[in-house]
Amino acid sequence: MHAFLAPVREDLVGIHSYGAPQLDVPARMNVNENPFSLPPELAEAMGQAVAEMASGLNRYPDRDAVALRAELAKYLLAESGVRVDGARVWAANGSNEVMHHLFLAFGGPGRLAISFDPTYSMYPEYARDTFTTYQTLARTEQFGIDVQAACSAIAERKPTLVLLTSPNNPTGTGLPMDDVHALAQASLDVDALVIVDEAYAEFRRAGTPSALELLDQYPNLVVTRTMSKAFALAGARLGYAVAAQQDVIDALQVVRLPYHLSAVTQAVAVCALEHADVLQAQVALLRHERDMLSQWLADQGYRVCPSDANFILFGSFEDRQAVFDDLLSQGVLIRVTGPHGWLRVTIGTPAENARFREALTRSGSANVVGQGKS
Ligand SMILES: *Cc1c(COP(=O)(O)O)cnc(C)c1O
Repeated sequence: MHAFLAPVREDLVGIHSYGAPQLDVPARMNVNENPFSLPPELAEAMGQAVAEMASGLNRYPDRDAVALRAELAKYLLAESGVRVDGARVWAANGSNEVMHHLFLAFGGPGRLAISFDPTYSMYPEYARDTFTTYQTLARTEQFGIDVQAACSAIAERKPTLVLLTSPNNPTGTGLPMDDVHALAQASLDVDALVIVDEAYAEFRRAGTPSALELLDQYPNLVVTRTMSKAFALAGARLGYAVAAQQDVIDALQVVRLPYHLSAVTQAVAVCALEHADVLQAQVALLRHERDMLSQWLADQGYRVCPSDANFILFGSFEDRQAVFDDLLSQGVLIRVTGPHGWLRVTIGTPAENARFREALTRSGSANVVGQGKS
């Protein structure tokens, strides 16, 4: 047979696909999911919703997901008091796809996206896929943004996309509103879109604002959210964005694939939104567990990054891989990510968090922790 060398795009040769391990261990605390399964009555309601529309699956779904986008707008009003029109909301298969759409429409060859490292590891992949140049500015020692330096960089380099992540992954840090103001204005000055990725917004501590509140002040602002984290719906794949201006949504319509959001996804998401209060009943508990675990880690002498999300970045370890491996051998899966020496743990159920504490205590006493423990 004729040998075939698949003509993979040159820039993709040798690149491996993204993905954290999916391991069946007792405590899965590595991808920031909500650890609580759906309440049985809600799972039943979802099943019912799907059963009711199943016979209509011979038809393509509502291409514009009108009902779903209206429900999302209603939810945002309840959650943050910000009134948005469903027409300004964009929905897709996870906020990953929303972001991909944003890069497709506003990035591209010869264009620049700027973000702030350490941050979400998927951003450079969207840039690569869309031939967008991707540059990062370093965060401060406390993992905040040096706003003055950032504003000058934006003025000089003239990106078309500026990515702010608040609360940021993997650090958990939320951005102060003043910073968002300054960065949105600097972006506006060079006609750049400023995207605030608020995947973890519902976990933010009291006093940490949402950029949704700025939508009527900055026409270049887009806020993205997801149902994967607080809504305990990572498996359904539903992310969304709110844009200050209609023409942003119009551009996303152009680049999306036809019927990108399945009728099943739309039905499940609408059902979940109708039960938003039930689904999010655990968010307060998770925030409380996060604050307790942060305190516990600090009490053990670790460095802890103050978190507005459902995970904690902590360190620092001489050999973080060894600590990760040791925890895994005890049935606790966390994440090797972030700056050298740090590890990230997702907040689990109280039982999982207890298991994590015990496992880390054992690793510590087995002297796996390096001199970084101060
Ligand atoms: C988890 C996460 C997302 C959401 O991904 P989905 O595709 O909606 O599951 C987006 N941004 C950040 C920073 C995240 O950590």
